[in-house]
Amino acid sequence: MYRAPLEELRFVLEELLGTGQLAACPALADYSDEVGASILEEAARLAETVLDPLNRPGDREGARWTPDGVSTAKGFKEAYQQFVTGGWQQLGTDPRFGGQRVPQPVSSGVQELWGSANLAFQLCPMLTHGAVHTLELCGSETQQRLFLPKMTSGEWTGTMVLTEPQAGSDLGQIRTRAVPEGDHYRLFGQKIFITWGDHDYTDNIIHMVLARIDGAPAGTKGISLFIVPKVLVNPDGSLGERNEVRCVSIEHKLGIHASPTCVMEYGHDRGAVGYRIGEPNRGLEYMFIMMNTARLAVGVQSYAVGERAFQQAAEYARGRVQGKPAGAGNADRLPITHHPDVRRMLLTMKSSTEASRALSFYAGLQLDLAAYHPEAAVRAAAQARGDLLIPIVKAWCTETANEVAAIGVQVHGGMGYIEETGAAQYVRDVRITTIYEGTTGIQSNDLIGRKIGRDRGAAMVALIADMRRELGGLQPGEGAPRETCDAAQQGIALLESATRSLVSNMAAAPERALAVAVPYLRLSGLVIGGWLLAKSAVIAAAGRGAAGKDFYQSKIHTAHFYARHVLPQALGLAKVVEEGASSVLETEPERI
Ligand SMILES: Cc1cc2nc3c(=O)[nH]c(=O)nc-3n(C[C@H](O)[C@H](O)[C@H](O)COP(=O)(O)OP(=O)(O)OC[C@H]3O[C@@H](n4cnc5c(N)ncnc54)[C@H](O)[C@@H]3O)c2cc1C
Repeated sequence: MYRAPLEELRFVLEELLGTGQLAACPALADYSDEVGASILEEAARLAETVLDPLNRPGDREGARWTPDGVSTAKGFKEAYQQFVTGGWQQLGTDPRFGGQRVPQPVSSGVQELWGSANLAFQLCPMLTHGAVHTLELCGSETQQRLFLPKMTSGEWTGTMVLTEPQAGSDLGQIRTRAVPEGDHYRLFGQKIFITWGDHDYTDNIIHMVLARIDGAPAGTKGISLFIVPKVLVNPDGSLGERNEVRCVSIEHKLGIHASPTCVMEYGHDRGAVGYRIGEPNRGLEYMFIMMNTARLAVGVQSYAVGERAFQQAAEYARGRVQGKPAGAGNADRLPITHHPDVRRMLLTMKSSTEASRALSFYAGLQLDLAAYHPEAAVRAAAQARGDLLIPIVKAWCTETANEVAAIGVQVHGGMGYIEETGAAQYVRDVRITTIYEGTTGIQSNDLIGRKIGRDRGAAMVALIADMRRELGGLQPGEGAPRETCDAAQQGIALLESATRSLVSNMAAAPERALAVAVPYLRLSGLVIGGWLLAKSAVIAAAGRGAAGKDFYQSKIHTAHFYARHVLPQALGLAKVVEEGASSVLETEPERI
């Protein structure tokens, strides 16, 4: 049974990040820690009582394709209705269209709860949110008036429609055509892998489709973005005729079975009516504007599954009796949590998940400061830091969560490998998170190319300086928090020298930097996570907040474990970044 980690969420929001201070930004003036806590409590109730019970049945039944459209698994439609009635789709969107602005880390906390309880369910609201965000930022007044209120409320859902068979990571290859016709366009093309591209939740689905206007330049500079409703919308907002939008099949896949992954056909005869967003040929640019929040959201959903896998593994281990733990004396009927290795596995899961959460919320905070802080200099610095952190959140959290879910199976032994316990579902579900919204390889290219390359490492150097200064200013006392802080400082020094090496490689031979881009990204995530956990340990040692004594003790131990068992991987990764490129490049592709 899933239990929302409310104490931990509040600790990160209130004590580690001081999210309440965002109320000083006029756009978030209504926010307070109390508001955040009550939002999380309400969300936890829905997650625990409505979404979690549907998770395993949804996995077994899956979504079904029919010629009339996709049917969702039993109970999902009703759960979605409850979700909409509770006003949850509105959270984190623009009040001008009926939304409720809250700090990004609070939105992330809520998304975590949905993701832990039921990842397949969470994907539909997450994509609607992405579509809403795109329209808020780039839509015309008419488009916003026609579509946003109903999408913000959840009455209609949204999708993000990019991928085609020949255009996955390389969106410059998109072929879907858009032919101008009066005030709109006619679209023709097939898209694949479209999450929640069709379903029976709502009367309408608003697709955000990338396509190429006839005669547009080749490659990424010739792609435009279109609104393509499943059912056309009349000028007064009522529903009109059915558009030429069809789900022709759904994929049979490894996990997230209750989330339909659709092959979509746009235009089988006259073409699907689409409305261009913004200027022609700037579609990818518009998509990139909302990419930060979408990538952050995938990072969050990954560690959310990790959290669920951890809870399940810990519960199983507390009940499973096997073998006589070393040093147990005469007490031979003890659960496997008494075996040091099982404890090591559980602590790896817990500490990695806590580091991922802290990193994701910290990145979200930067996006808030970048958007809402009254001072331009603070906004600019936060934007640079947020931009730097997003690929790290997306790729490091997702790669880590895959490891966490796999360890969850290991904790169960054979019972983890069979479907009965549910541990295997987390491995299957979380697997997609390193792939969609840009693979780990693509995130790492983004980190070293667009982020580190653009400013020759300045944003990373600034972060390194801040991490070092902050840790230096803490008073950890003696014992575990002091050791944790020292280990975090050592990690920071490794990241610093690896960054120097990467920047000099990038100038001389970019392929050398690309050959170690993923290890560099992993190193960054590991070290920044270590810094945030070290800070957490010092705050917990002071124990001034609202959490209980046991919680603070656990926080200190978990951070110490991370410093001693997880963070030392930084040494190996830094070595790979500094010395590993040649071993990749000297091997010809055809000789692998
Ligand atoms: C369940 C599911 C849901 C999805 N939902 C959506 C959705 O809602 N909307 C949508 O538009 N798409 C969606 N996708 C598509 C998803 O975004 C793509 O699968 C993803 O971007 C990768 O593209 P690809 O599958 O073509 O892999 P490829 O691009 O062929 O990549 C294959 C491998 O090559 C590597 N690679 C490729 N290019 C580079 C490079 N330049 N540098 C280094 N490595 C590289 C990749 O990292 C990867 O390891 C979904 C996919 C799945 C499976």
